[in-house]
Amino acid sequence: FAFKKFGTASFDTDKFRLLFIVIEEQITLSLVLNTMASVDKISPYAYFLAEKSAQILTAQEGDNIQVSIPNFEYEAESSERLKNQIYLMRLDSGGIYRFKFIIIGDHEVGKTSIVRRYVDNKFTRDYRATLGLDISMHSFELYGNKVTISLWDVGAQAYFKRFRKTYYSGAQAAFIVFDLTNRETYDKVNIWFEELVDFIMDKDLPIVIIGNKSDLTEQRQVDYQSGIKLVTELSKKGESKISYIETSALTGENVEDAFSLISYHYIMKNQESEEIILKKGLLNEINSILEDKTTLMLTFISESPFWTPGLQILTEIGQLGDFSKNKDEKEEKIYQYQNGLTLKNYTYDSIDISGSDGVLCIFDAREKEHIDFKWKDLVIKIIEDIQEKKVVLIGIRVSDNIDWSQLLEEFNINEQLEKKMVSLMFFKIGLEYRFEIYDQLEVMLSTIKEI
Ligand code: GDP
Ligand code: MG
Repeated sequence: FAFKKFGTASFDTDKFRLLFIVIEEQITLSLVLNTMASVDKISPYAYFLAEKSAQILTAQEGDNIQVSIPNFEYEAESSERLKNQIYLMRLDSGGIYRFKFIIIGDHEVGKTSIVRRYVDNKFTRDYRATLGLDISMHSFELYGNKVTISLWDVGAQAYFKRFRKTYYSGAQAAFIVFDLTNRETYDKVNIWFEELVDFIMDKDLPIVIIGNKSDLTEQRQVDYQSGIKLVTELSKKGESKISYIETSALTGENVEDAFSLISYHYIMKNQESEEIILKKGLLNEINSILEDKTTLMLTFISESPFWTPGLQILTEIGQLGDFSKNKDEKEEKIYQYQNGLTLKNYTYDSIDISGSDGVLCIFDAREKEHIDFKWKDLVIKIIEDIQEKKVVLIGIRVSDNIDWSQLLEEFNINEQLEKKMVSLMFFKIGLEYRFEIYDQLEVMLSTIKEI
């Protein structure tokens, strides 16, 4: 250390392992460990401590330094847990969630500045390299839930490479940043991308490539088109959803948007995989019904033939096999599957539900204070036309501020239901309607199976 050239070193003595990390010329962080301690395990903590110590030592009046120490192993194992949280997120609001984002790229491209701009809305000109790792938290509202993202700003120095794997693991989204005024940092995005893909198990991690320092228009060495081109090339290499955005940590331009973009990708991605699971569930239900009764007819009724999400979901399930698509005399759509499944689609004024095992009818009550009289008549007609012991689901699209029980009272069809043994259920359809329609289909199928 007399040469002041080592960033980090470790020595073993008879009794202890010593780990040194240089913070600046006169300051070294020394850790004294048990002889049996694993340097690999302790190093992420050591670099974290070094970075935080450096921040404290160079802090200025009014600076805000977050000093909570993460549990790195816990972080590494949390991806499954977070997936479950996302699942809950669509059901509940008022939850508290945590996601892990990592921000990587060459040194001095502006990673730390972007994070500071986003988290503290501040910008500082003097440059101090991030020592190893800096983690900050930022919270925001999303669908009525409090979301806290932990932003992992990882030092770019080569000697951190062996520890970066620890920092990367469990990450749910990543920024790769380059400097628009430095062509070399643009060329290196590839290498960062490969390291990321190498280290991360989740192969379709959402990624946003950020060209930073857009305020320095005169010094630009990379134009917007090159950024797009890079993203297009990288997208072909892996399964990740990759976007491109240009930011300035100095002016704040697009910084918020970069974070919205990554959150958007993250949530979309999780909805997608969620949908695959839900579709499998529906497929199993349909197959098990068809084992007992060889045919199954489901009818979908909506105001417009172009908005029938229930039908759309089912026709998207490829494993149901091929179907032939006909139009009957009323010019309505009929999907006939080889396995015995029939799906029919009608608008309000031309329904034919004879032979249906299940009916899903959708009304749109958004921006409405009362239900349409025609809707009640239609529900009554459905009850009259359908055979006994069949299933009717009424889905109603509503706004947030709706008085649901009042709305249901307006339907008041108890009289008809007393006369006939039909399973009828009303469902609320809100903002996240696709998932709610899945739930409705699930209910419809399992009720058909039961009765
Ligand atoms: P890091 O090594 O990637 O974390 O980069 P830093 O955030 O520490 O920034 C490196 C240098 O670039 C610092 O001197 C910053 O002040 C400067 N810088 C960062 N972002 C911008 C930007 O958007 N515009 C300009 N003009 N300078 C920036
Ligand atoms: Mg930095």
